[in-house]
Amino acid sequence: MTAGIYAARKKLNALLISKDFVGQVGKSSLIENWPGIKKISGLDLLEKFKDHLESFMVDINEGEEVIEIRKKKDFFEVKTTEKDRYFTKSIIVSSGTNPRFLEIPGEKEFVGKGVSYCTTCDSPFFKGKKVAVIGGGNAGFEAALDLSQYAKKIHILEFSSEVKADEFLVERVKKDKKSEILLSVQAKEIKGNDLVSSLIYQDNKSKKTKELKVDGVFIMIGNVPVGGFVKKLVDFNERGEIKIDSLTHQTKTKGLFAAGDVTDIPYKQVVIAAGEGAQAALSCYDYLKKIKK
Ligand SMILES: Cc1cc2nc3c(=O)[nH]c(=O)nc-3n(C[C@H](O)[C@H](O)[C@H](O)COP(=O)(O)OP(=O)(O)OC[C@H]3O[C@@H](n4cnc5c(N)ncnc54)[C@H](O)[C@@H]3O)c2cc1C
Repeated sequence: MTAGIYAARKKLNALLISKDFVGQVGKSSLIENWPGIKKISGLDLLEKFKDHLESFMVDINEGEEVIEIRKKKDFFEVKTTEKDRYFTKSIIVSSGTNPRFLEIPGEKEFVGKGVSYCTTCDSPFFKGKKVAVIGGGNAGFEAALDLSQYAKKIHILEFSSEVKADEFLVERVKKDKKSEILLSVQAKEIKGNDLVSSLIYQDNKSKKTKELKVDGVFIMIGNVPVGGFVKKLVDFNERGEIKIDSLTHQTKTKGLFAAGDVTDIPYKQVVIAAGEGAQAALSCYDYLKKIKK
């Protein structure tokens, strides 16, 4: 969205294609680190971004997914779910990340039946229920705080012997009597009939297997970058992030830029992704000016 705003201000003939206007921001219940706004829900911040974007003359195709991008001589060919193809001289990829799957028995089977990757979306369904949160990083601890408004008991399970979340989040969760933190444990299986009824986990030290009676399992173990549709034109690092030149945001293919969580730039935050979007759009503008000459 920031790249779109900058492209419009430079009067580029730009089209923004997005599967949705939710992204990860929309999955965050509370954002407290967007400068100028002390506290805002992710969905409200998104509305502000969208409103700002729409005030410029940017063409927006919402609900359209890019399937493949190919390079053809001096042009890129973009295939989507909605249209056969678009042709363009330059592209900014900012497709972010998807949640990482746990890949244990029962996970896929119970998605939407107790297994979730988004507390902002699903917490209200767990009013008065017991839930497990897998992952003791920032996302897991934020999830526990979201769930605490509804659930009666929250078990946070972390694989390593210490939590990875920021100290201020850990303090907030510890003050909340509903949450219990289990360290050095590994989720093994999600069980149930029509809906989730329990989680099987192993204690890494004793190797003993235990069962937690829960109605929901929230999986918060990180994210996987979404760059498959551009795989023939970019290099990826070991985390699957698109490698870019940190000054220009260009990938290994001339005219193809990337920004936000899909790139190998460290620290995944809204303000950083937005800054990267601005940088990529400005570099893209310089690139187009150069090739026009
Ligand atoms: C639960 C949670 C809480 C968070 N809390 C905070 C916080 O408090 N503060 C903070 O600064 N950061 C927070 N973050 C991180 C922040 O949300 C991300 O760093 C930021 O959203 C990254 O922006 P992005 O545009 O790169 O990617 P995303 O937000 O992931 O957006 C990518 C967009 O691309 C679209 N897309 C993907 N593939 C395609 C395709 N093939 N075709 C078309 N469109 C596609 C997606 O639908 C999506 O709209 C949080 C993240 C999560 C998950």
